[in-house]
Amino acid sequence: MKYKRSSELFQLAKKKIPGGVNSPVRAFKSVGGTPIFIKKAKGAYLFDEDDNKFIDYISSWGPMIIGHSNNSVINAIANTAKKGTSYGIPTSLETEIAELVVSSNPSIDKIRFVNSGTEACMSAIRLARGFTNREKIIKFSGCYHGHSDSFLIDAGSGAATLNSPSSPGVTLGTVKDTLISNYNDIESVHSHFKKYPNEIAAIIIEPVAGNMGCIPPKKGFLEGIRKVCDNYNSILIFDEVMTGFRLSFGGAQELLGVRSDIVTFGKVIGGGLPVGAFGSRNEIMNQLAPEGPIYQAGTLSGNPLAMIAGLTTLKILKNNPSIYKSLANKTITLHNEMKKCLEQKGIGYQINSLGSMISLHFSEHEIIDFKSACMANNKIFKKYFHGMLESGIYLPPSQFESYFLNDALSYDDIDYTVKAFKKVLNSI
Ligand SMILES: *Cc1c(COP(=O)(O)O)cnc(C)c1O
Repeated sequence: MKYKRSSELFQLAKKKIPGGVNSPVRAFKSVGGTPIFIKKAKGAYLFDEDDNKFIDYISSWGPMIIGHSNNSVINAIANTAKKGTSYGIPTSLETEIAELVVSSNPSIDKIRFVNSGTEACMSAIRLARGFTNREKIIKFSGCYHGHSDSFLIDAGSGAATLNSPSSPGVTLGTVKDTLISNYNDIESVHSHFKKYPNEIAAIIIEPVAGNMGCIPPKKGFLEGIRKVCDNYNSILIFDEVMTGFRLSFGGAQELLGVRSDIVTFGKVIGGGLPVGAFGSRNEIMNQLAPEGPIYQAGTLSGNPLAMIAGLTTLKILKNNPSIYKSLANKTITLHNEMKKCLEQKGIGYQINSLGSMISLHFSEHEIIDFKSACMANNKIFKKYFHGMLESGIYLPPSQFESYFLNDALSYDDIDYTVKAFKKVLNSI
């Protein structure tokens, strides 16, 4: 494949944009090579500036769950745009999507919309701190909750890819209030509570981790976290930015049957436009300004374009619940077929998958937390990634990212992917 135009565009971009990208993982740092520049996308396919076509397994990192340029979503955005794009004044669309989200999740009575997953998680933490009058939070090594200071400590995703688990610019004061536990290790949570029984405002966790590859929670792990929060009057925050409306319409908590106090959303909830949200029961949400004293605001929050893109996407998902089954079946097929090829090749591997999330690590060890994810072989991953790209398959350019299947993906696409996979494995 030729990437001539992409290379030129990347050189130009690098002159004016740090690293040539507006979000680090796009830069191909951990796999090397030049990122491709996309011209357009339709359904399950991406088309780059050199007119190469790719089957897309990242779906814009999750939002495009029903496929790219879905006609209903695009038409709804276009019609709304004709009436103006932002007023900074309430619209009925905001209440309509709020009603839909609240009805999808028994943990939520009220919801506030923001512009990104980062904002949602940052605001959720402030709300938990304000509500409990405590300062410390627990996060898990390798979990990613956006790029606000409190979370950039042992963060996954792009931060892990860059080998900068914490970032310069995050103050020691902030670090001291973020306690780190290990995913799937309830003892590492208990030990913090023993030390600080009355100081921990909240635990924030990805109920199914997706930012160190896909790592599902072990049986009893989330239940244990729920229990410890109840025992110590701490707030449990499920960061469902990735899993919300993806693993099921009610997110990971519906699928796994464990309820959080606060839920954060992003990605799918915006249907491809910048939207985040956080919700909880009345007792907690009524503490937010202007009803209560905890401040949170946003000039473009709830703007009509973002709301209509999210609302249209969510309605499609709600009205077609079979999408989830179909996505899960496609993922299982991919999982099983990849497994067969890997067994034949006799290479150390781990595939984790749940719903429409799946990831492959080249490792002999089970991938259950950040430490085990870091032990996977990145040299092989690089070859694998570039081999697949060359075959027209766009995978996340890092082993610390999950693939996100979208509903436009066909079994023919999966077939093609598996054939390419076999060929690429043989070349490794
Ligand atoms: C993507 C992500 C975020 C951050 O969302 P942005 O919209 O990128 O700010 C937070 N939490 C999780 C679990 C995510 O996957």
